Amino acid sequence: MEQVDCIVIGAGVIGLAVARALAGRGRETIVLEKERKTGTGTSSRNSEVIHAGIYYPAESRKAQWCVRGRHLLYEYCARRGIPHRRCGKYIVATSSAQLDVLEHLRGSGRANGVERLDMLGAGQAIRCEPALHCVAALHSPDTGIVDSHALMLSLQGDFEAAGGMLALGSPVLEGHCDADGIVLHVGGEPPMDIRANLVVNAAGLHAQETASRLRGLAPSTIPPLYFAKGNYYGLTGRSPFTRLIYPVPEPGGLGVHLTLDLGGQARFGPDVEWVDSLDYRVDPRRADAFYASIRRYWPALPDGALHPAYSGIRPKLGKPGSDAADFVVQGPAEHGIPGLINLYGIESPGLTASLAIAEAIAEMV
Ligand SMILES: Cc1cc2nc3c(=O)[nH]c(=O)nc-3n(C[C@H](O)[C@H](O)[C@H](O)COP(=O)(O)OP(=O)(O)OC[C@H]3O[C@@H](n4cnc5c(N)ncnc54)[C@H](O)[C@@H]3O)c2cc1C
Repeated sequence: MEQVDCIVIGAGVIGLAVARALAGRGRETIVLEKERKTGTGTSSRNSEVIHAGIYYPAESRKAQWCVRGRHLLYEYCARRGIPHRRCGKYIVATSSAQLDVLEHLRGSGRANGVERLDMLGAGQAIRCEPALHCVAALHSPDTGIVDSHALMLSLQGDFEAAGGMLALGSPVLEGHCDADGIVLHVGGEPPMDIRANLVVNAAGLHAQETASRLRGLAPSTIPPLYFAKGNYYGLTGRSPFTRLIYPVPEPGGLGVHLTLDLGGQARFGPDVEWVDSLDYRVDPRRADAFYASIRRYWPALPDGALHPAYSGIRPKLGKPGSDAADFVVQGPAEHGIPGLINLYGIESPGLTASLAIAEAIAEMV
């Protein structure tokens, strides 16, 4: 049987960041990824926004790790030449009934340690973004965008340079825990058993399923999982906006917002569609609802300008209608198994928070 110090399950942005942090601290680490490429899950199906940390309840892990992660991420991107842009964002109230929501967001942002947030009147906001309709806007200058693929490639490069090993096409099928560590049975060519002192389950949408196959782990510790799909539509032609434009949040998501990629192309989304399976097809019939949502803040959106783009799926820990759950990190104190860390519900702002999550886990172990 193979033996290693640490195993990270999953080569999304979280698994790669955690593996980099472990290897960087001198721990022998293997990443096991079931697909033949890294980052094919949620990490390549998101808005690629570097969030400031506005939306999350004070003291929550999401708030703390988003703010810390943002600082780490900007610094890391600058150091490594990873394409990114601190383009800023407006959260817009399109009716006076939404002004209270903007005030609430400004308050929660400040409580979370978001350094710069400015309330703008309609005139001021529209002077900067002439295509916009709003009655007020909350300006977050520290929100930005990042090339998530370049980020993951860089994390992988650091990990491998520190002696780490990435095993693609290596699904963790099951495992068990005994007095000498955790043994994982890994599929692939050829299948193998590996024993490790530390296993970090960063399997994203499959974290619960992977945990449920570890004999010895009490099923009662595994939280329920619900899938909230987010669909995106692309904009044909150039964007009239230079910043990201967000409406006030909706239940389950941040509202159908406009994000830009680093080439200046705009896309809109994600909406919230509760689904039972991991089906990433975008239903063209959702377009009508997109036009209606977007025209609240961009009334001049031309007919026929949107085309179905892609989708991502949020690993939600709460049912539709329930309050957003925090990130869940379970170690031995929660489930009683030495050397096992399970990460559950790592939805937005997981990309922003990835380096802070990795730092916290590396310190925890
Ligand atoms: C629609 C949407 C928009 C978002 N927008 C943003 C945003 O703008 N900004 C932001 O900060 N965050 C955003 N997020 C959140 C962010 O994308 C995620 O938090 C992050 O990508 C999660 O990364 P991960 O590594 O946990 O998961 P994943 O990227 O899904 O990686 C998990 C990996 O584990 C592998 N795996 C699964 N099971 C096994 C197994 N048994 N054995 C081996 N490998 C396995 C999978 O193949 C996969 O590669 C968004 C999320 C969604 C859904």
